[in-house]
Amino acid sequence: MAPVTPTPVPPLKVAKFGGTSLADATQIAKAAAILRADPARRVAVPSAPGRRSDHDAKITDRLYQCHNTAALGDGIAGVFEPVRQRFVEIADQLGVKDTGWLTEELDRVEAGIEREAADGQGPDYAASRGEALNARLLAAHLGWAFIDAADVIHFTPAGRLDAGKTYAAVADAVDHAGGGHVVIPGFYGTQPGKDDHDPPRIKTFSRGGSDITGAIVARALGAHVYENWTDVSGLLMTDPRIVDNPRTIELLTYRELRELSYMGATVLHPEAVFPVREAGIPVNIRNTNAPDDPGTTIVANTDEHPLQVQPTADAVPITGIAGRKDFTIIALEKALMNTEVGYGEKVLGVLRRAGISFEHMPSGIDTLSLVVEDTQLEGKLDDVVEALKREVEPDTIEVDADLALIATVGRAMKTQPGMAARLFGALATAGINIRMIDQGSSELNIIVGVNSDDFEKAVRAIYAAFVR
Ligand code: ASP
Repeated sequence: MAPVTPTPVPPLKVAKFGGTSLADATQIAKAAAILRADPARRVAVPSAPGRRSDHDAKITDRLYQCHNTAALGDGIAGVFEPVRQRFVEIADQLGVKDTGWLTEELDRVEAGIEREAADGQGPDYAASRGEALNARLLAAHLGWAFIDAADVIHFTPAGRLDAGKTYAAVADAVDHAGGGHVVIPGFYGTQPGKDDHDPPRIKTFSRGGSDITGAIVARALGAHVYENWTDVSGLLMTDPRIVDNPRTIELLTYRELRELSYMGATVLHPEAVFPVREAGIPVNIRNTNAPDDPGTTIVANTDEHPLQVQPTADAVPITGIAGRKDFTIIALEKALMNTEVGYGEKVLGVLRRAGISFEHMPSGIDTLSLVVEDTQLEGKLDDVVEALKREVEPDTIEVDADLALIATVGRAMKTQPGMAARLFGALATAGINIRMIDQGSSELNIIVGVNSDDFEKAVRAIYAAFVR
């Protein structure tokens, strides 16, 4: 028998486009050009049209407003009009032919929003229509197949993603469409009714959730890469409001991204990471307005990943710096604390009973400090201090507010000597007093606590120590 040569699997890129990338016909034409420029880009996941300027409203926000109006029992023709106009204008400017379907669809949506509200349903149907209409328009413009997310993204009756059913349905639908060149709207899916009398309904993810759809679709299809097209050329090394023109991070790991986003850097919906991370699919953040920029690539492991991203010759030893203000330190001191079994447990018990979570707990032989976000302590601080005095009887207890935390994140930290010296040296030279130090056991970051007033100065000093 002749040996069977396996058919090579062509690479597949799932390309998600955010709202500003699709805000009007000019932006949609850019997205279409990007999709057509690479034959591997066979699956597009669009958001709803976003803001065209600072004074503009997102279509999704207008749709929530339509729902709220309908829920009050008022007619929505007036509030729906700008939504209608935006889609008609986009279709017109894109030169989409035969737009009779669009007018019918818009009428159906308007009536549907009123009906759902009259049935006492929530805003999900209304909110999802921006993506649904935009995906139909994009598909018509490209001449690609449209797959309704309602048919392939499935939630459980409890409202969680039904991953198994969803992955199978996405793969099957794309297969039926000839293996690709499809548009699947982001942000929503279908949730089954509670019983036989309750019909299935549209359910959305949380705001910004088209990122999640893109990740799920990439995972379902075993994509080679998940491209996330937005209006910036990737994740910056630090906040551009603090440091002028910071560098873009070319390559980072999912763990580094988690550290940086926890401390305030935002680029992807946090829930979008899990489906692709599990499957080792890289995420590439790209700029629709500067498609030649390589953007930021997020991978599980920087040594083994399917994309060839070479750090530039002048690569810096850290990945990024992020931070947040508004933390408080509660510092406890007690002689021979180290010999008292269960001391830490008692301290944390006080926090647990007060419903407070803590960020860090640096400790010494006779000292233990709790670093807590101010919002957690609102209205509870005095009670917590009283409870600690009563239950763990410290010799002293001090509460110090106005703390800012800064995380310097980098996978190189584990292996390169001298990184901490450089960081602390920079802060000392800048005359900044460090009030807390914590290095996570993963050695992926060093966190320092400084006075809130020193926050920006400290970020600039650390950046300059490693980058310039
Ligand atoms: N359009 C939705 C929102 O504004 C989802 C998204 O854009 O990702 O939240």
